[in-house]
Amino acid sequence: MSDKFPDHIDPLLFAERRGALSGDIKIAALERLSGSVLDHGGSVSARIEFSKEGKRIVVAGHIEGVVELECQSCLQALTWPLDIDFKLAVVSSLKEAKQLDDCEPLLLDGDTLSLNAVIEDEILLALPDYPRHEHDCLAHNRSEDADYSATDSQTKANNPFSVLAKLKKTGD
Ligand SMILES: [Zn+2]
Repeated sequence: MSDKFPDHIDPLLFAERRGALSGDIKIAALERLSGSVLDHGGSVSARIEFSKEGKRIVVAGHIEGVVELECQSCLQALTWPLDIDFKLAVVSSLKEAKQLDDCEPLLLDGDTLSLNAVIEDEILLALPDYPRHEHDCLAHNRSEDADYSATDSQTKANNPFSVLAKLKKTGD
């Protein structure tokens, strides 16, 4: 296992050798994903295997890791585990894509494939549109507030963080 995970590769070359790659990818290197998560310091680990089914190049893999999303109810961090399996077939046209039945199409532009883009797409597809804590976090916050007399200062103290989180989210 190597920690170096190449970005651009030749999928045909890997498929003919039945190659496999595994390693870690920094979240900061995934630009679109960085816009959806609060914590950019972490990384995800991925394993990708290449093979040929007939003439078709198949790219299958697994992604694991944890990202921090912003809960859409309370605007606090929400830990979201990733455990993604994917199977893609390289296609060069939409017509070819429509003929696939057992895997998702991977439209290739040119000869090289960006593995970072594949991994990023799979993660973005797996993320919920409206992430929320499983428990009723707003009710939880309300009952906490009721227990303390310093409700106002607490609420104010919390707000800068959600503003910061938003800045962080849109800042880059
Ligand atoms: Zn929440």
